[in-house]
Amino acid sequence: MRVGDGSMPLVLSCLHPDRDGRRDDQDLSAVRRDTGRDSIGMNAVIISVGDELISGQTVDTNSAYLARRLAGMGIVTTAHQTVGDDRPSIAAAIKSAAEAADLVVVTGGLGPTADDLTRQAVAEAMGTTLATNAQCLAEIEEFFGRLGRTMVPANRIQAMIPLGAEPLANKVGTAPGIAARVVGKPVFVLPGVPVEMEWMFDNAVVPRLDRRAGIVLYHTVHTFGKGESDIASGILDLMDRGRNPTVGTTVAGGMVTLRIISRAANPQEARLAIQDTVDQLRRRLGAMVVGEGEETMASAVGLLLRQRKQTLAVAESCTGGMIAEMITAAAGASDYFLGGVIAYANGVKTQLLSVPRSMLETHGAVSEPAALALAEGCRKLLACDWAIGITGIAGPGGGSESKPVGLVYIGLAGPAGTKAYRHVIPGNRATIRLRASLTAMNHLRLALLGEPDL
Ligand code: AMP
Ligand code: MG
Repeated sequence: MRVGDGSMPLVLSCLHPDRDGRRDDQDLSAVRRDTGRDSIGMNAVIISVGDELISGQTVDTNSAYLARRLAGMGIVTTAHQTVGDDRPSIAAAIKSAAEAADLVVVTGGLGPTADDLTRQAVAEAMGTTLATNAQCLAEIEEFFGRLGRTMVPANRIQAMIPLGAEPLANKVGTAPGIAARVVGKPVFVLPGVPVEMEWMFDNAVVPRLDRRAGIVLYHTVHTFGKGESDIASGILDLMDRGRNPTVGTTVAGGMVTLRIISRAANPQEARLAIQDTVDQLRRRLGAMVVGEGEETMASAVGLLLRQRKQTLAVAESCTGGMIAEMITAAAGASDYFLGGVIAYANGVKTQLLSVPRSMLETHGAVSEPAALALAEGCRKLLACDWAIGITGIAGPGGGSESKPVGLVYIGLAGPAGTKAYRHVIPGNRATIRLRASLTAMNHLRLALLGEPDL
């Protein structure tokens, strides 16, 4: 099992000097009360600000970065919120996040232009006003000086900090961040530019998060063969939101992935709890479990072939090389993968793979006999242990009542003989081709495991 290891377990303590350099111990106790009895269970809300984010022009990568970094410190992100460059909306988002969570991290809207309104919104959420911070102003002037440029008046706004908040140093850009408190909760406001945000998070926010036991680890288990709700019905108790670790499901890339979230006092405890949940999932789901973490259908097949010192080749019609592409995406695939034929045209099927022309005329290229002949012809041509032959109608055209779009025949030729499988796969052309490729590899995987077919 590969359980992702977070960075050092850290949890917020809010031991930061206030504006006069004194420690804000009163606030600290307030936060400890808010966060509950033990260190496990602190949560955060991340707010990203920018019209470019809500319009879809820029993808919000900051929130994903922050959620991952916070998880490594034992802080669970309970919500991501995206708001436009609108002062009342930003202020309202900060206020409701502070009411709901133990910690709020905001990114974006700290620039010098008229559409950068986050600092004003923070002041509004705090019920205070902005004031120029002399040290920040000097640092911004120095930043421009280093670049040999003079500061335009518009940049003066970046030296303005809400009264009662602290500036956070920015060594990679002009805008300082802000450490504020709203309804007693710490609110960190960082620039939107990802490199500046990351630098400030690491250098100004992390030092304010004190070491305390507590970590959140994530792990994934990938399954194939049943739909999301079918899988879920067998593991409802493990999916209970009150359970720790808890299990959630996601459909991605044609597979149903189970996400395990483990909160524990230390990484070892979190890992053991994840292992225990993985064992239970494997017991219940059996051969439907394809792999964990970074493993894919192709890498799982590759592992089994390597263990058995067996080889594979493919004859692909409707998938046009997709199976070969997926198999060879795994490093070291040359240990077991010999190659293949993209047998798209009937002439290639007959000339290279010895599929009888008469058989194609009688049954059609998308038929069980064609899939069997493709697999057998490939196994003979490339002298491999296993060969996959695949033929189908990926659509959108070309379907008929007896042979609908999505109809796929898979031939699997192996040491003990050749079998064919028929599937009708729903979806568009891309989905049908992807799922057909995965289904073919899954038949091989189950055959290698000696497990019954789907
Ligand atoms: P801002 O600080 O809001 O002026 O953002 C400056 C630039 O950083 C924007 O133009 C975006 O290109 C980028 N940016 C802002 N927020 C994000 C975010 N959440 N994720 C990724 N990039 C962002
Ligand atoms: Mg912006």
